[in-house]
Amino acid sequence: MYSSREIRQQFIDYFISKKHIEVPSSPVVPKDDPTLLFTNAGMNQFKNIILGEIEPKHTRVVDTQKCIRAGGKHNDLDEVGRDGYHHTFFEMLGNWSFGDYNKKEAITWAWELITEVWKLPKDKMHATVHDSDLESFELWKTVTDIDHKHITYHGDKDNFWEMGETGPCGPSSEIHFDRGPAHCGKEDDPKHDCVVNGDCHRYIELWNLVFMQYFRNKDRSLTPLKMQHVDTGAGFERICQILQGKESNYDTDLFVPIINHIAKLSGVPYSQGDEGTPHRIIADHIRALSFSTSDGGIPSNEGRGYVIRRILRRAARMGRLLNLREPFLYKVVDTVIDVMGHHYTGLKQQQEYVKMIIKGEEERFNLTLDKGLVKFEEMLSATDSKNFSGANAFMLYDTYGFPYDLTAILAEEKGLTIDLAGFQQRMKEQKERARSASSFKIDVVETDWVVLGDERPTEFLGYTNNKSTSRINKYSLNDNNDIIFVLDKTPLYAESGGQVADKGLVRNEDVEIVVTDVKKSGELFLHVGKLIKGLPTVRELKVTVDQTRRMNISSNHTATHLLHAALRIVLGDHVQQKGSLVTDSGLRFDFTNFKGLSADEIAQTESLVNAEIRKGTIVDTVVMNPEDAKKDGATALFGEKYGDKVRVVSLAAFSKELCGGTHVHNSANIGSFKIKTESSSSAGIRRIEAITGNAVNKYYCDLEELVNKTASMLKTKPAQLTAKIESLIDENKELEQELKSLKSQSAGSEIETLVNSALEISGVRVVCGKVGIDSSDELRNAGDILKQKLRGGIGVLFAVINGKVSILTTVSDDLKKQYPAGKIVGKMASFVDGKGGGRPDMAMAGGKDVSKIDFAISQIKTVIESF
Ligand SMILES: [Zn+2]
Ligand SMILES: [Zn+2]
Repeated sequence: MYSSREIRQQFIDYFISKKHIEVPSSPVVPKDDPTLLFTNAGMNQFKNIILGEIEPKHTRVVDTQKCIRAGGKHNDLDEVGRDGYHHTFFEMLGNWSFGDYNKKEAITWAWELITEVWKLPKDKMHATVHDSDLESFELWKTVTDIDHKHITYHGDKDNFWEMGETGPCGPSSEIHFDRGPAHCGKEDDPKHDCVVNGDCHRYIELWNLVFMQYFRNKDRSLTPLKMQHVDTGAGFERICQILQGKESNYDTDLFVPIINHIAKLSGVPYSQGDEGTPHRIIADHIRALSFSTSDGGIPSNEGRGYVIRRILRRAARMGRLLNLREPFLYKVVDTVIDVMGHHYTGLKQQQEYVKMIIKGEEERFNLTLDKGLVKFEEMLSATDSKNFSGANAFMLYDTYGFPYDLTAILAEEKGLTIDLAGFQQRMKEQKERARSASSFKIDVVETDWVVLGDERPTEFLGYTNNKSTSRINKYSLNDNNDIIFVLDKTPLYAESGGQVADKGLVRNEDVEIVVTDVKKSGELFLHVGKLIKGLPTVRELKVTVDQTRRMNISSNHTATHLLHAALRIVLGDHVQQKGSLVTDSGLRFDFTNFKGLSADEIAQTESLVNAEIRKGTIVDTVVMNPEDAKKDGATALFGEKYGDKVRVVSLAAFSKELCGGTHVHNSANIGSFKIKTESSSSAGIRRIEAITGNAVNKYYCDLEELVNKTASMLKTKPAQLTAKIESLIDENKELEQELKSLKSQSAGSEIETLVNSALEISGVRVVCGKVGIDSSDELRNAGDILKQKLRGGIGVLFAVINGKVSILTTVSDDLKKQYPAGKIVGKMASFVDGKGGGRPDMAMAGGKDVSKIDFAISQIKTVIESF
């Protein structure tokens, strides 16, 4: 029996023997594509080739792609673990032809690998082809020795692939494996048709061969593509299941060691039935968590970070079902690496980092979960109905991370039903909010273009020039004069690598366009702006960059590199960039560090950066192979798109980074650097916000102005400011003391008056009245004074504190048995819409109705006589 490791390698080696080049998997967290949550198919990294935007460097490629499907359109999260084949994380084996071989080779090789190398029985194999694809049908008959009865035609649903509403598309041909009638499970259903692509588990799809031969136009018609491609995908976990003769993906050697580790940690043995669901869910989710984190994903409250957080929370909650109450997921990462680290070496390199992120998030979730349980109990005691509201369920979900099903279980235990419709309504509203906030997007295929020139990659001149003479190759204009256009060459930088786009002007005698944004689509630069005058033609135009703005951006970008290098010196080599934003007004830099920076570390970092600025180092850029850059010690995340050359930006020996951004020519151009804030971005990630150049000047000018203004308000000089403030604080304290004693004096005289007008009820001296007091402490204080002055007797004081009634009752010791203060205060409170009670000698109560105080006082006689 082959191990998963052997199977993966056999696939790669087989296609290498057919002259394919092996390409590494692209990261599962896409770095350049904000429209894609996670890499979810093998083709993501080749999209630009398939759209014809770039020339392929190799025409035959083989790879195994890390994929995550969770959240968004492919939301399988809730099904994962309940069956043997849904996963959040999976690997896709694929061989690719970019305008090279076609159907004949793809079918021949897939058949040969499956039946000759892997030796799966030929009589168990079935092939499907699209209704329109007679060519593939004939090929299956002629180039393979498959049973001819096992080749079947199918419709668009099963055998036609499309990239989107418009764009490349084509028929597909799939290979299915017959697991035998025992796997049907629907024998008793007379309506069941036990066939390939049917609705039972007898036949499973092993491999999908997609032949991209058409372009789908807007009117739904198809045009043959000039360059036709082959894209194949074989689900790796499934291939392992069949080759290892298992019933479920979870029984393969990809999962068994992980499941065993979970069983060992929890002491709960694994079962292939329903009781094993928590084990399976955890085993699946920990793979997704390990790979997404090592590729730069971080749990958070938005976008892909939120999906990662949900996956982690679901896994942690499953842990509780197995009595794992302490963080444990991070420990399982080691086993994931044992199983897959040999092929995905990036994961192994990040082992400690991945564990730290996962552990931190687990700790946080455990706190949240405990808090949520308390909140749930609170909500329960606040509701009288048999219905648990949708608003409450949503709050538990949104704030405490309680999945709906968990709340449902808890509510059910208490005999309550949940308002599911109300919950779903709030979920819908939240999704709409998220959608409206999602980032700007241009769909190149969808846009109605006016084509003026040849379509070819935009040449970027902006590293050396701030002007160019260019032509518009195509543009799209709406009624509002919003325009998107592609230039043959441009000095305007397109947003990427955390650096914002340039702004600028494009014009000639007839046409004028203000450019407000530039986005990349593959190798094309899409300039976005307003058409001020004329209409674009084939004539040349002058393009100019907003130079002051660009200088500020470049200055902030170079400073970001210096900051990165300085942090590694001050904090250590574990510092890794986790995100950055470079704009004209400042820079933001996220990096790994276990704790916040001390004031001293911040000062050291600032001074290192400023020292490099003052040195006036030339900023050097070289374009080279990624391998050479690595050898050269450049810092960056490698492995985004295959085959690309990289640009290395260095400042002498101080900093060396892979970077496509714009920079100043000499570090002295930055002028000055200042860190404004240092804070936590998420678990294990710190964030620094900083400014350079004129912004630093302005920052200090503003500070100076603030100090001067404050000093003049306090009628002193800036240098004497702290002394002045200290003396003001002291003065304020003295005044407070004085005020307090004045207040108690005045309360004393008020009480004196009250005592002088004491009533005699049932032979007891009774004082009852209102005092002008505004805190409970003062009222208690007044009670003590009253007790002293009254000596023997009963006192009842009313006061209005924060708009509500406060009542205090004191009773002397000789009377407290017969007239308990707690009872008196309770009765008095009832007149002012309140409740209360307390000790027999002293009690306080509150009430809502201030207007009834006088009435309450008038009732004192009745109350005392009632005892
Ligand atoms: Zn069946
Ligand atoms: Zn950079």
